[in-house]
Amino acid sequence: MLRLYNTLSKKIDLVRPIEPGVVKMYTCGPTVYRDAHIGNLRSYLMADWIRRTLELSGLNVVHIKNITDVGHMRQEVLEQGGDKVIAAAIAEGKTPAQIAQFYTDRFLTDEQKLNITAAQEFPKATDHVPEMLEITERLVQRGLAYEVGGNVYFEVGKFSDYGKLSGNIAEGDLLEAVRVEADPLKRDPRDFTLWKAAEAGRELKWPSVWGEGFPGWHIECSAMSIKYLGTRFDIHTGGVDNIFPHHEGEIAQSEGYTGESVVNIWTHGQHLLADGVKMAKSMGNSFILSDIEAQGIHPLAFRYLCLTAQYDRRLNFTFTSLKAAQRALLRLRNMVWQWGILAHGSTSDAEVVAGWQGRFVSLIEDNLDLPGALALTWELAHSDVNPADKLEILAYFDKVLGLDLDSVVEDYTVPSNVADDISHRSKHRGRKDYARADSIRESLSDSGFVVQDGGVATFVRPKTEWEMRQERWHTYSSEVEVPSLLEESDSVDLTVGIVACNYLGDVQRCVLSALNWLGDRDAEVVVVDNGSNDGTDEWLEQASEDNDRLRVVHVDHPLGEGSAKRILLKQCLGRTVVMLDTSVEVTGDIFGPIEQALEDDTIGVMGPFGLRTTDLHHFHDGEGESGDMDAMQAYCFAFRRARLSDVGLPRQTFRFYRNLDLDFSFQFKAQGYRIVADHNLPVGQHEHRVWSELGEAERDELSRKNYGRFLERWGDRADLLTCNREQN
Ligand code: AMP
Ligand code: ZN
Repeated sequence: MLRLYNTLSKKIDLVRPIEPGVVKMYTCGPTVYRDAHIGNLRSYLMADWIRRTLELSGLNVVHIKNITDVGHMRQEVLEQGGDKVIAAAIAEGKTPAQIAQFYTDRFLTDEQKLNITAAQEFPKATDHVPEMLEITERLVQRGLAYEVGGNVYFEVGKFSDYGKLSGNIAEGDLLEAVRVEADPLKRDPRDFTLWKAAEAGRELKWPSVWGEGFPGWHIECSAMSIKYLGTRFDIHTGGVDNIFPHHEGEIAQSEGYTGESVVNIWTHGQHLLADGVKMAKSMGNSFILSDIEAQGIHPLAFRYLCLTAQYDRRLNFTFTSLKAAQRALLRLRNMVWQWGILAHGSTSDAEVVAGWQGRFVSLIEDNLDLPGALALTWELAHSDVNPADKLEILAYFDKVLGLDLDSVVEDYTVPSNVADDISHRSKHRGRKDYARADSIRESLSDSGFVVQDGGVATFVRPKTEWEMRQERWHTYSSEVEVPSLLEESDSVDLTVGIVACNYLGDVQRCVLSALNWLGDRDAEVVVVDNGSNDGTDEWLEQASEDNDRLRVVHVDHPLGEGSAKRILLKQCLGRTVVMLDTSVEVTGDIFGPIEQALEDDTIGVMGPFGLRTTDLHHFHDGEGESGDMDAMQAYCFAFRRARLSDVGLPRQTFRFYRNLDLDFSFQFKAQGYRIVADHNLPVGQHEHRVWSELGEAERDELSRKNYGRFLERWGDRADLLTCNREQN
């Protein structure tokens, strides 16, 4: 029988079905005004593994997963315009319902791709407003809730068990936790909203005895869980961030309504992290499933990755670990494939099979020890169990693991002409005509097949998308993987360095204009392809094959600007480095004047667009001015590569580009170098997409954070400013 950590009892509890043979489980589902990120998906994987474990033991699981399409999805969010897709939807005249349907469909597709067994019902909040109102009315009748000005609040002080799930009991903690946006209508700041009066112009609203309004967030889960699973059910799941206030509120509402305990076991999944912090859209560190697929990585590799950490442990996501998961999954699939071919004729040993199955079950039933189960899977793979039994045992494991291993046979089937080629090849090999055998193998490889000679047979299968992708070009996943050439001596006079991420037209314009005006200089162009997925990567690769002076470093997903620039500078080999932004077009010889200016050793940075400040707070672009500046804008930023040894590389904490140029400029200033602008350098500026495609709120936030980083380091260095220094 499955045992799970119960957030409510704070111990590991046995799942004892309330109704014999049936387990009723509710999972807090997605909020559908945006894509679920892979952190959200980790929570749904946890629920899926719980369900599969219960089903393996013969239980029937009734699984409900709600769709939050109101309440949590406030009009404010829609109107902020922070989210480009919502802004676009509104601009196109789409309704909130259409937006919700769009993201619901995408969510269901993501679940399918991850092999998550579909819940029996995906009830929508907007379809259950009457049920929410019924609970709310009963809570008011019972004196647990009160109405003020069309709003209804749950009165936390009236529910003595409040805090039993999260331990948030002390008023101070609660205040801290809800970060009260001082609602003067509440009797107690801890009270939470059950129903909110509709503001003027609101589209999503319903009639109620208190006037038109819309439900609070927690009430939907009380209403839908009770409606579909009854007033007592077995398991409720969500991510740890749901514990408070969402689930604490749900307990107060549901138990206030029924008068008794509703959920037996509350199970919460720990977060998926990225860069060491919770993955969240608002942190700018979230990825969605299509970001993974865009790299030729199978969605199930993410499922595999999640198997490597117990659900109640945090898991730090990196593309490096995801690729390792992809390789491991491919290895496992290859083994299954070969066992399938070798299995014919081997006999089965029921006792061996039962032994392995028993070990597997005792692991997964022990608070879902999936890392242990995965280790057991590899132990099996490397054991001397015969192939037929391995297949049978693994098929049993996979009922829970859900890695879709039984699709291998079909996925690895090859067309008959390929099979014919293999038998010809075997004949050549039999005659020791290895030259012919190898040429068949090569031509099969070119047309997308892997040929592998085993002891007793030759295996052939189609290459996976991942393998084909690996053959295209090398990609890096992080800055540390990229070798540094900084210690090497200059190999050319000049490097033009560019970081590119999508917007192919811009990249072409920038790269080609630079190549054009380089003329016959001794120079190279180095481009960091920072995770492009719109064909820019392919164009760059092709262009670098056609042009010896162009070198491309591919990164598999967009790294922060600081990291991308560090990679770029680690890879440059020119005596002079001219960094260009892809919004810039070289329209004349900028290189001669730059080289000439940098002959003056007092000048650290040279470029057309300088910035000046007198207080470190307001930076003015040197409006057509030339001469000494306090910083150089990143659009065109030139310096001697040798300077990097005392100035250092740009800081990787700057994930967004803005103000990184100030920071990097000050690194030069701090070493005593001047920053000099020549406004007449012939460069054209085009639309800067990274800026123009961001919502206003988002770019303000990102800029502000970066400016904070800059000030933290340089805020007390007014001595570096040009205005405070003697002119030389
Ligand atoms: P939401 O769509 O924001 O309501 O979140 C859906 C589910 O994902 C909830 O159960 C959250 O607790 C969970 N969740 C949110 N962020 C993460 C994360 N970084 N890692 C794991 N689960 C998360
Ligand atoms: Zn919920």
